[in-house]
Amino acid sequence: MEQSDRTESDRTAWSTEDSAELYGINGWGNDYFGLNKDGLVTAKTLHTEVPLMNIVKGVLERDLQMPVLLRIENILDAQVSRLNNAFRKAIEELGYKNIYRGVYPIKVNQQAHVVQEIADFGARFKHGFEVGSKPEMIAALSTLEEPGSLIVCNGYKDQEFIDLGLQAIKLGFQCYFVIETPTELPIIVERSRVLGVEPKIGVRVKMTSQVSGHWNSTSGDRSVFGLSTTQIIEVVDTLKREEMLHCLQLLHCHLGSQIPNIREIRGGINEACRYYIDLLKEGAQLTHIDLGGGLAVDYSGARSNDNQSRNYSLEEYCTDIVETLKTTLDRYDMPHPVIVTESGRATVAYSSVLLFNILDYNHFEPIDLPDHSANEPQQVALMREIMNYLTPDRLQECYNDAYYYRNEVRELFRRGQLDLRGRAIAENLFLKVLHRIDAMLDEVEKIPPELEDLKTSMADIYYGNFSLFQSLPDIWAIDQLFPIMPIHRLDERPTRQAVLADITCDCDGKIDRFIDQEKGVSKTLPVHAIELNEEYYMGVFLVGAYQETLGDLHNLFGDTNVVSVRLNADASFDMVKEIHGDTIADVLSYVEFEPKEMELRYRNTAERAVREGRITTRERQQMLKTYRASMDGYTYYEREDD
Ligand SMILES: *Cc1c(COP(=O)(O)O)cnc(C)c1O
Repeated sequence: MEQSDRTESDRTAWSTEDSAELYGINGWGNDYFGLNKDGLVTAKTLHTEVPLMNIVKGVLERDLQMPVLLRIENILDAQVSRLNNAFRKAIEELGYKNIYRGVYPIKVNQQAHVVQEIADFGARFKHGFEVGSKPEMIAALSTLEEPGSLIVCNGYKDQEFIDLGLQAIKLGFQCYFVIETPTELPIIVERSRVLGVEPKIGVRVKMTSQVSGHWNSTSGDRSVFGLSTTQIIEVVDTLKREEMLHCLQLLHCHLGSQIPNIREIRGGINEACRYYIDLLKEGAQLTHIDLGGGLAVDYSGARSNDNQSRNYSLEEYCTDIVETLKTTLDRYDMPHPVIVTESGRATVAYSSVLLFNILDYNHFEPIDLPDHSANEPQQVALMREIMNYLTPDRLQECYNDAYYYRNEVRELFRRGQLDLRGRAIAENLFLKVLHRIDAMLDEVEKIPPELEDLKTSMADIYYGNFSLFQSLPDIWAIDQLFPIMPIHRLDERPTRQAVLADITCDCDGKIDRFIDQEKGVSKTLPVHAIELNEEYYMGVFLVGAYQETLGDLHNLFGDTNVVSVRLNADASFDMVKEIHGDTIADVLSYVEFEPKEMELRYRNTAERAVREGRITTRERQQMLKTYRASMDGYTYYEREDD
């Protein structure tokens, strides 16, 4: 790697405040992440602040390599508290006459440690779980201890699922079956008679309030979820007939995830209130109104109604819900129900950070190339000539010329009329012209449209030690933006612009859309020049929701190492849990290879080579040792110990 241009002036003309502004950390950090005076990103709680670099160091000392998914327990703890306290406060201030009960939807992050932590931290608020399948139900039943906690069962429920739920009621859990289709009801009625347990029933209504964002199809007439008004009437009539209408106690509605606009949330609650009121009039004894998920995370920190943001705070969200419910219900003189929400994303997103190192980079810059031969083609000479008439008022013209000659040169190469070295000289000249043009762009008043993207096309590629498909699937699948930034050197001016490539051999394995504080989205990320013999660490933030189990084994890169830490008041941290990522043997067995058998075959191949005199037995042993170590090793790029 070459020496970078880190100079004293980069430090003096640049402060950590400049970095904070550039990367927007004070916006999206939600008081959980910030910068300290040494130019380091820190994880924060009310009582302490720990640089992520300290944690990286601690991780490496424990022989865990990058990439690492870092979970910060205190943040999860704090976020569960913030949510519950914000609702409590709104309820108290507005005089709402009932309580709040949160449930965590397990699908958002099903990792055992996360689920267990939420159960532990949530116990004092009786925070429960929302489950959408039998496996999630089993996870909830074996994790929750607080009997008063809610378990809300969504999704398609067979007899076994229903039996589990009815038995949970016997154990003292408030387990609600939310009816998603009318066919579930007869099974619930029958099983409750057989087991002798009165069921707690909810109905999920199909909301017609439309919301914006990626997940808007969750609402509307064609939503696959929820009951239509006719189906609700069917359910009510069936329950009446069975003399079980009093079991219908919960109204469920879920508008979608990551709802950026508070007005749309309020619209949804108004609609929900109409259902609530009329179901009470029908004779149902509704006690709970469950407003589903949707509480957004401000990934960009812009506080706008953009998809990656939200135009409200947690406090406003709670106040709006409580106030809308209270005003609407008071108008009809209706009782206030328990407010339930199923916030997943907002509960877990903040607590996880993906940390990785940069392995290499590619600069698109001209180098010193000696002139080649006397009979250089005319096009190369003409390209050289451009430098002589390149002035700020002729940028577009020069760009066109350079482009034209470069294409001609490529054609000559294809036809065999120019050799490799000759072509390299021409490509290098082309880069020289582009860089000169780029340098002059600052001097012109109006940048020609074609040249606007010039910087992007010359941006560096930084190769990161991670797999997009494994660790950040939503970047690939739905163009989600996450805050991404270096976690150190932030007291230095970032002098380069880069796109990030991962280490899969897939052209989709790259990040070329970044949050930009001015433009909203930028195609490149400001980064520092890589220093010789010095690692450069970056973090992808707010990745606790939806990323872990959606990931896949592209190129057989497996699960990353996972480390859970607890930050202490004296700015130290405890490594509470460490989970080693998949080994190569692990990922191979996921795709039905048999590592033991594979080793046997490899050994036979080596043995044959010994027999045929191509290698020595010593070499054979060396080869098998390398093979075994690799099989037991990490799937990502490993740095050898010095
Ligand atoms: C996915 C889902 C949630 C979680 O939504 P967030 O926006 O992540 O809080 C809640 N409820 C239901 C029914 C869901 O399907």
